[in-house]
Amino acid sequence: MIPVLMMSLCALTVRAGQYTHADTLRGSNGSGRNWWDVTRYQLDVKFDTAAQSIAGSNQIFFRVTAQPGDSMQIDLQQPMMLDSVYVMSSSRTSGGVRKAAIVQEGNVWWVKYPFNTLKQDSLYSLLAFYHGTPRKAVNPPWDGGFSWKTDSLGRQWIAVSCQGLGASVWWPCKDAQWDEPEDGMINSFTVPLPLTCISNGRRVGNTQTDGNTTTTWVVRNPINNYDVTFYIGHYATWQDTLNGEKGVLDLDYAVLDYNRDKAKAHFGVVKTMLRAFEYWFGPYPFYEDGYKLVESPYLGMEHQSGIAYGNKFRMGYKGTDRSMTSHGLKWDYIIIHESGHEWFGNNVTAKDMADNWIHEGITCYSEVLFTEYTAGKENAAAYSRGLWAHIRNDQPVVAPYGVNDEGTGDIYEKGEAVMHMIRVMTNNDDKFRKMLRGLGREFYHKTVTTAEVEQYIAKTTGLELGAFFNQYLREKDVPELEYYIKNKELNFRFTNVVPGFSLPLTATGGDKKAAVKVNGDWAKVAWDGGYDVNFSKDFLIKLKK
Ligand SMILES: [Zn+2]
Repeated sequence: MIPVLMMSLCALTVRAGQYTHADTLRGSNGSGRNWWDVTRYQLDVKFDTAAQSIAGSNQIFFRVTAQPGDSMQIDLQQPMMLDSVYVMSSSRTSGGVRKAAIVQEGNVWWVKYPFNTLKQDSLYSLLAFYHGTPRKAVNPPWDGGFSWKTDSLGRQWIAVSCQGLGASVWWPCKDAQWDEPEDGMINSFTVPLPLTCISNGRRVGNTQTDGNTTTTWVVRNPINNYDVTFYIGHYATWQDTLNGEKGVLDLDYAVLDYNRDKAKAHFGVVKTMLRAFEYWFGPYPFYEDGYKLVESPYLGMEHQSGIAYGNKFRMGYKGTDRSMTSHGLKWDYIIIHESGHEWFGNNVTAKDMADNWIHEGITCYSEVLFTEYTAGKENAAAYSRGLWAHIRNDQPVVAPYGVNDEGTGDIYEKGEAVMHMIRVMTNNDDKFRKMLRGLGREFYHKTVTTAEVEQYIAKTTGLELGAFFNQYLREKDVPELEYYIKNKELNFRFTNVVPGFSLPLTATGGDKKAAVKVNGDWAKVAWDGGYDVNFSKDFLIKLKK
């Protein structure tokens, strides 16, 4: 996902405390979910582009992981309709196929079946047929749904974005961020000719019947539900390769046919970017599925192995620099940010969107690392600090768990600031880089919690970070440093910090410098640097003289 340009329009509405039963059903591992694990999805969708509706099926492959309950929760949002559901062994041919009863409760469909007859640890599947007119996007990608658009030649251009809103807005699934299909997906899309369809992963089928074309795509790696996508329009495509850390990486590009030449020039940065990210984060996490950039009718979205690109071939964020340092105008924000998500968001995914700072904060920091790779450390640090102007301190970065809430827009820049400060405190770039690469390896293709990430960062940097993370992730306010000078002594303390919190800062004044470890208690150092004191600009603090 991308932050909104200006601070005042933050997309992430603060929902503090106002949660519904539907939020809990969606956000927590209830009795209709906690006994089965999705292993694979096989989605098959036909588009009626005139009626703006879809119909199809999804075969949900799952393993029974605990004593089954009496029902299964399948998520499919209104006004979509689940027509029928069949329970069968893992393959469509062998074993019995039995129709199940279904009961709707808002955006949830309870599948009623004697699941207690299923054997634990065994594989089964559920074939769900459905149809409907999916929600239309209001302000994609932030307020998503289907975008039924036309391109500049008046031809149909159709796409979907659904992070936060959820994949269940258009296909029946277990819409739970912690349960990805470990064995990937097979997706087939049928659209009327002359339209073509582009999706995640590799295309393995392309057939034409009755004036329609059906393309089939395979994703071999685990994938977030909200990353599953399609782009329908008049596309020109081309391929390339990168000699990456794990061998040859296939690169695919798809843009509206009349943008081909412009895009070929503009996408030239992709290889440098992938090298930069492989340097800092380790190998691209999805070599089996390849890397793909697809022009979309909305600004952008980190669809795995099918990145949405809608920045209209401009530099920066829609031609502007969010850091207000000029460094952000030297590259295309959407290409860099959305591709950075392949490592954090897609490879390493938060179990609960309450921890989505892992996605947005570390990906926001990937912009800094790309700037460093292309323009040097000082410029990158300036870019990083420039982003802090967007921080709102409206609520803690980690949102309430189990209620499908992503929380504040501060998951971006404040999350990024956390990474920036950890780097400064590590004070050893080799160790810091090892930590970043280690995160991608330790949690490769996994879903994680903030606590797991905290522990891993503390362990690999050797830093005491408990209070640090509590302050910056679980308190809404940034530390306020209060100081005064008296009798040639600099007195200082933090006024509003959690117990045990401290920062290793440097006070400068004139040509004088002093290392000061600041915590919640008053402390002082000898000081003859005058009354105009500055404290380390690489820490997110407020000053109060
Ligand atoms: Zn993002």
